[in-house]
Amino acid sequence: MNLNILVLPGDGIGPEVIQEAVRVLRKVAEKGKHAVKLTEGLLGGVAIHKTGVPLPPQTAELAAAADATLLGAVGLPEFDDAPPEKRPERGLLGIRKAMGVYANLRPVRTYKALLDSSPLKNHLVDGTDMIIVRELTGGIYYGTPRGISGEGQSERAVNTMVYTRPEIERVARMAFSLARGRRKSVTSVDKSNVLENSQLWRRVVMEVGREYPDVALDHLLVDNCAMQLVLNPKRFDVVLTENLFGDILSDEGAVLAGSIGMLPSASIGERKASGVWTGLYEPVHGSAPDIAGQGKANPLGAIGSVAAMLEYSFGMKEEAEAVNRAIEAVLTSGRVTSDLKGTATTEQVGEAICRAL
Ligand code: NAD
Repeated sequence: MNLNILVLPGDGIGPEVIQEAVRVLRKVAEKGKHAVKLTEGLLGGVAIHKTGVPLPPQTAELAAAADATLLGAVGLPEFDDAPPEKRPERGLLGIRKAMGVYANLRPVRTYKALLDSSPLKNHLVDGTDMIIVRELTGGIYYGTPRGISGEGQSERAVNTMVYTRPEIERVARMAFSLARGRRKSVTSVDKSNVLENSQLWRRVVMEVGREYPDVALDHLLVDNCAMQLVLNPKRFDVVLTENLFGDILSDEGAVLAGSIGMLPSASIGERKASGVWTGLYEPVHGSAPDIAGQGKANPLGAIGSVAAMLEYSFGMKEEAEAVNRAIEAVLTSGRVTSDLKGTATTEQVGEAICRAL
């Protein structure tokens, strides 16, 4: 295949973890005789320094032209007091919007070597392997009317949870398609006992589910789901939910895996004419200014994001599995960074993954 990828290293530890992710990507391409074309762009604090804005128009154009985009992290403490439009994080929201990515995928899997880092008992968490599919562009974060009005005792605040049928249909289809390549089970999460918005969500998800008769569908109320995620995480395969619930549940899912440096994420949009899915891939962690430039950053979240890119954008499931197996092997070998109680540098972990591949 031809892999035409935009790389946005970003700020802090972003460039450090991306360097290792790219090393792994090149290794996978070399082994499978795939051609990789990498283009580098600016996003976040580094973009503000060089161009005055966190998302230069050229970066959005490069993302549109690429098959997939790999992002490190954005955020620099020096911009903490800057106005919103001059903050690196604005670049992140901007690029997601520019790329039209509407589904955020967070794979949550536990590794044997890290079971003791999980806050849950080993037997509860061992074998957990799920994907949380969060709708990313609708719901209460974007609905109108919104705002704070009035004064004193009359002061009031309003947010509006809005979903349209097509918004629910497209993300539901994504979840069912993913389930087909996995254990064929979707759990849709809502609050349909209270919210009309969730009633529409549940009805549309059930309708879409009829197009996938080979995939089992069940429904959980969000409060029960929050509980089941810690009581019995192994029961989940694909968890489908709306924006706000997904924001909260995906962080709950994140702690099951141990270190935040381990976690990949994927944000997916429409399928391009070439057959490749538009995708933005990034580790879940931020720019970690406290450890930037010290070679301490765990690159496995970024490397896992490469695996996600291979699988979801390019349909290269075997190669993705090979990267995930290499991560497991390196974790077992103990060649890991200090967040996982090891002594390896970021670069040494990247090299170890390539050797394992
Ligand atoms: P953070 O994820 O950067 O760091 C939280 C803690 O986890 C820190 O102690 C850090 O050292 C550690 N950590 C994070 N990633 C690690 C890794 N790969 N290896 C080892 N340790 C790691 O979150 P924060 O400190 O709240 O935010 C720092 C900056 O990052 C802020 O400017 C914030 O806005 C930004 N941020 C960006 C993203 C993103 O780009 N997607 C996400 C979250 C935060």
